Amino acid sequence: MGCSSVPKGSGISQSKGSVKNGELVNGRRFPYKGANYKYFSPLSFALFNRAWVHSKVLDISLEAYKKCEKTCPKRKFLLMECSEKNGGRPWPHRTHQNGTSIDFATPLLKNGKIYHFDHHYGIWHYAMKFDKNGKLASNKKVEIDFETMAKHILALEKAARKRGMYIKKVILKVNLKDEFFKTPSGKKVKAKGIYFVRSLPEIVDDVHDDHYHVDFAWL
Ligand SMILES: [Zn+2]
Repeated sequence: MGCSSVPKGSGISQSKGSVKNGELVNGRRFPYKGANYKYFSPLSFALFNRAWVHSKVLDISLEAYKKCEKTCPKRKFLLMECSEKNGGRPWPHRTHQNGTSIDFATPLLKNGKIYHFDHHYGIWHYAMKFDKNGKLASNKKVEIDFETMAKHILALEKAARKRGMYIKKVILKVNLKDEFFKTPSGKKVKAKGIYFVRSLPEIVDDVHDDHYHVDFAWL
């Protein structure tokens, strides 16, 4: 795998088509890890080759993580699937096809303290289940840190706007949204008008608890 700490890829990135039917040209691959984040699965990174995005989306994400070093000290973030090197459909995702979609693991707390144990789950992270209050189904002491999640989203939006892009859509399990928007930073996300999908087919809704999906687009 060559646990590189620098991005891979060169040339002018192009996201063609849509997230549902598209391709990625001259993308960038995230470094496997940075100061306060890492990619969730060596298998997904090296074999499935799914840590690729448009160069601007890479820059946005890295700047947001940098910002979170200050706003969320001690928090380590987990980056999940992005796009494949040349885009196209990465089964079972329907989208993630042109280098503008990223899945971010929901940051967790245990007994109110930063909790990173989920960073060891690899691809099984996607199988984690949370109740409607954001508590882990198998251990209610573990819960989603909605405030940190909102700070991260605000940092992504800011970094995106600097580059002529914005967050077009966030997908989070619909019954978790009220918990998210209750937090101080969640209220700021709402005030900025960042769009969260309002209703989802059950099969899509069900999986967006351990992670939130973000689509970026050009202004
Ligand atoms: Zn996704």
